[in-house]
Amino acid sequence: MKLVASEPYSRLAELHCAGCGSAYSPFVLQRVSPCCQLPLVAGYDLQEPLSRDAIEQTDSSMWRYGALLPLLHSENKVTLGEGLTPLLQLPRLAARYELASLLLKDEGQNPTGSFKARGLSMAISKARELGVEGCIIPTAGNAGVAMAAYCARAGLRAVVVMPRHTPKAFKEECYWYGAEVELVDGLISDCGARVRQRNADGALLDISTLKEPYRLEGKKTMGYEIAEQLGWQLPDVLLYPAGGGTGLIGIWKAFQEMKALGWLAPHTPLPRMVAVQAANCCPLLETYQGRQPNCQHYQGQATLANGLAVPHPLGEALMLRVLQESEGTVVSISEEDMLAGMRELGRQEGLFVAPEGAAVWMATRQLLASGWLRPNERVLLLNTGSAQKYLDNVAGRALE
Ligand SMILES: *Cc1c(COP(=O)(O)O)cnc(C)c1O
Ligand SMILES: [Zn+2]
Repeated sequence: MKLVASEPYSRLAELHCAGCGSAYSPFVLQRVSPCCQLPLVAGYDLQEPLSRDAIEQTDSSMWRYGALLPLLHSENKVTLGEGLTPLLQLPRLAARYELASLLLKDEGQNPTGSFKARGLSMAISKARELGVEGCIIPTAGNAGVAMAAYCARAGLRAVVVMPRHTPKAFKEECYWYGAEVELVDGLISDCGARVRQRNADGALLDISTLKEPYRLEGKKTMGYEIAEQLGWQLPDVLLYPAGGGTGLIGIWKAFQEMKALGWLAPHTPLPRMVAVQAANCCPLLETYQGRQPNCQHYQGQATLANGLAVPHPLGEALMLRVLQESEGTVVSISEEDMLAGMRELGRQEGLFVAPEGAAVWMATRQLLASGWLRPNERVLLLNTGSAQKYLDNVAGRALE
């Protein structure tokens, strides 16, 4: 079956099942794949040449890569200026730890304070394009806030289901955007069960990580930006705090697409990808190291890094594939080390990063100490959020 986009704006061509590869139409509303109940992944027509001139240079948001995004009609775009975040040098930490180059992409500078803005801008734009009237999401915090904001902007109903223990700032921000918020005892997996129950009739679109195909496409723009900001070169190692894994999977997808398009500088090797998890909830690490066949029965605990408290990620197999293809690895970080990382990034570089971003820095130190990372390598850290909303949990811990 050959599927063709209705407008030249997007090269979107098909959706395929991450399990068996079956193709589905990208022009009607889809959720998970009907065949395997696994994520559907967007594919583009990359055969026809497309030069880097297709990048809309006047657009200083992630939408500058519109030709490689799934939105068909630009009037459906729901944007708050997400993306094109700064790629910062960390010279003081690089000198201290003898790294050739240490960069941090600061996703905390996105609308709503995290990189979730990218995925939700994309997903809500597509929801509007496909005629959806309302959306529902189980969330550890940031995704719910971002969904509430973009739904407000699109005039869609928003239902956010989050753990009761989530810091107050996340709940408050959802209320200010006019979302309906339900609190659940437990982790995001318990919120997911509640969403399935509450939305049994399917009246709302379930925006759970990888249960609709388009958040992933928003997240992949980080990969395009990293290459563009580095003059179409890539770092040797890229560290990412993995919960549901959309960023890890999406960035790798962007690298593959750019390779197919011939956008990368000649002979640019792709980075080794590192998934960083919280020691309190590290299902990927347990599977990667062979202590369980998969994450299905993993028991996770809450962590300061809410975004990493995802015990049963639907995209586990996709994440493992990225680690294997890129010759990457998985690392887990304790709660105390996240706080130590926040202090070090704050004091040395003037950055107030989310515990997830601090975990990524501490993972770098761990991999340097073990020799997996060599001092002459160029390292890129993804800081996924700002620490502002986590203050309930970290207040008073700066001076230890
Ligand atoms: C959601 C979140 C993550 C994890 O992102 P995934 O795409 O689920 O892997 C990491 N950091 C922060 C701050 C988050 O909000
Ligand atoms: Zn399938």
